[in-house]
Amino acid sequence: MVNKQIGINRDSPKELLYPYSINFFHFINDGLAIIDLSKGPFGQFIEVNDVFCSMLGYTHDELIGLSPIDITPEDLYHNARQFIDRQKSGTDRKIIREITLLSKNGRRVPTELSSHVVKLNGRLIGFGIHHDITKRKKFEQDLILSYEKELQLRQELQNQIHQRIEFARGLVHEIKTSFTPILCNSKVLTKIVTDETAILLTQNIFRAASNLNNRVDEHFDLIRSEVGILNLEYDWINPSSVLNEVVSEFKSRTLLNKNLFRTYISPDLPPLWADADRIRQIVLNLLDNASKFTAEGAEIIMRGYCRESKLYIHVEDNGTGIPHSEKEKIFQSYYRSKANPTKAGGLGLGLALCKYLIELHGGTIKIEDNKPSGSIFKLFIPYTKHENL
Ligand code: ADP
Repeated sequence: MVNKQIGINRDSPKELLYPYSINFFHFINDGLAIIDLSKGPFGQFIEVNDVFCSMLGYTHDELIGLSPIDITPEDLYHNARQFIDRQKSGTDRKIIREITLLSKNGRRVPTELSSHVVKLNGRLIGFGIHHDITKRKKFEQDLILSYEKELQLRQELQNQIHQRIEFARGLVHEIKTSFTPILCNSKVLTKIVTDETAILLTQNIFRAASNLNNRVDEHFDLIRSEVGILNLEYDWINPSSVLNEVVSEFKSRTLLNKNLFRTYISPDLPPLWADADRIRQIVLNLLDNASKFTAEGAEIIMRGYCRESKLYIHVEDNGTGIPHSEKEKIFQSYYRSKANPTKAGGLGLGLALCKYLIELHGGTIKIEDNKPSGSIFKLFIPYTKHENL
């Protein structure tokens, strides 16, 4: 019996508590073990509860007399010996730590051990509470595995993105290298040919070449925006002059379309922290669309003004218009309106890119219906410095 082995004094008032302690010992949910550390080199179990027995698959009688080393996996003998030595020498009398035990059938059982060593009648007695942490350890292991898996997937994704970018960069380079002479030569030709048919043909070649050139740029920009590496070059820009440059460029591009083009650009717009090239790209795209999706002779109006610390730019046309159900969708990549399927156009990337670039500047873009027909593309960019800067 416990009391005999560890020498409990039955005359002590504490003895009154003894039956309750025994109940507590046997009904507690954790494994309890008492070791006489004075016996043998590593001590011997002198009492264990049922939970401790079933944790390790031994019977009570099989465990009594065994030493802690007998229920330790071989690879952990060294740690276990050090641990026992420290407890015996008094260095660590009270310890809470995770240890691993070995069950009778060879299963490793991780437990959290709270151990306390006391001196009783000249003998060193260790009281150990073993909390089975198999589930927690499994959970931790699963967590580590899924973290490692996620890291690996992320790495694979990064590699794929890198390959995709490199491929796109190479492709763009190849296309542009072959393209530059066509663009340059056709531009020169438009200025030197005199025959009317030749002028028309060279203008067509130049227009088609610059369209294709823009499409290639759009594509590459979109790929870069998708992987978050589209970097803008911000500076303080003069919006009035940038918008006027866009107007001249647009006029020179659309000579043949003969749109009525009116502009209302405030002459003294305050300086804006923005990427001038990207602002040109956004507005030109909206103007090109206005021209593409209107009949010849239709009217296009562009406005640029400042209100409530925001630069507003409007591009208005009286063309086909955009149905209400598509006003959000046409800002998605590759979306083209069903309202004007026959019109020549690009791949449906321009507006997606515009929206992305405007948002990088901290602004937004929306579409309203024009009266009696057509659309108004309204965008604003705040004058306050935004977090992308
Ligand atoms: P695309 O290169 O096809 O012009 P965009 O992204 O610029 O690509 O435009 C997407 C689609 O939105 C166009 O194909 C067209 O159907 C519609 N769209 C854009 N601008 C206008 C406009 N001003 N009027 C009518 N439809 C437009």
